[in-house]
Amino acid sequence: MNINRSRIYKTDVIILKQAPFLEKDRLITAYSDDYGKLKLIAKGIRSPKSKFGGSLETLNSVSLTIIKRNSLDLITESYTNTTYLNIRNNLSLLSKSMYWIELIDSLSVENEPIEKMFSLTEFTLNLINENQCNDLSLRYLELKLITITGYFPEIFKCIYCRDTLIPKDHYFSFKDGGVFCEKCTNHSSSSLLKVTLDCMKLLRYLNREKDITKIQNLEIDKFILIEIEKFFISYLKYILEKDIKSYEFIKSISNKEFQ
Ligand SMILES: [Zn+2]
Repeated sequence: MNINRSRIYKTDVIILKQAPFLEKDRLITAYSDDYGKLKLIAKGIRSPKSKFGGSLETLNSVSLTIIKRNSLDLITESYTNTTYLNIRNNLSLLSKSMYWIELIDSLSVENEPIEKMFSLTEFTLNLINENQCNDLSLRYLELKLITITGYFPEIFKCIYCRDTLIPKDHYFSFKDGGVFCEKCTNHSSSSLLKVTLDCMKLLRYLNREKDITKIQNLEIDKFILIEIEKFFISYLKYILEKDIKSYEFIKSISNKEFQ
């Protein structure tokens, strides 16, 4: 996508990550509503007298003024909209946020905005910051993310014979992007994951429900919660073609909380 922008442009971003660059600079990776993922230079940020202060820390929501250059564009001004203070003071909330940020970084491409990705990320970080993002809410948000990036699978019809699925356990193929009915499983181009009827019902419910407060308060059997978590993580790993490092961080923290 060719995005026209003037030599100096302004945009709101979420900071995804930063890395040292040359002696006193940092390379900032951010996601913006207007331009998708951006890689930008913050000059002099590593000097103690830097005008940027802590405004470009990972997770911050920031308004930026940027100068276009032939190489990496340069941040000239930053205004912090929120730093998500509760997240920074709670390891469990931080681990969920870093997981989300890793998904956004992995699913987005430079200068190719994905509709609703910025607003979904702000919504997610606010929910986590308010400590309102339980496991099922996170699955709901993953489903939204899969939907806006075009990876939402077929869960209503057999992807081979197109028959409407009858209520029983089904077989899911990541590679084929959907579910096979029992009689068509030998047409899959990859190995199949068995998805129980209860898990499938929950997937469909998450797909149609618009009100997150209903999802937050839903009582779900823990075995179905475990199954749907495995389903989403396996599918996301397949889409990203890699492990999700920060997911291991979430698991290590939740395991410690149980000890
Ligand atoms: Zn079929």
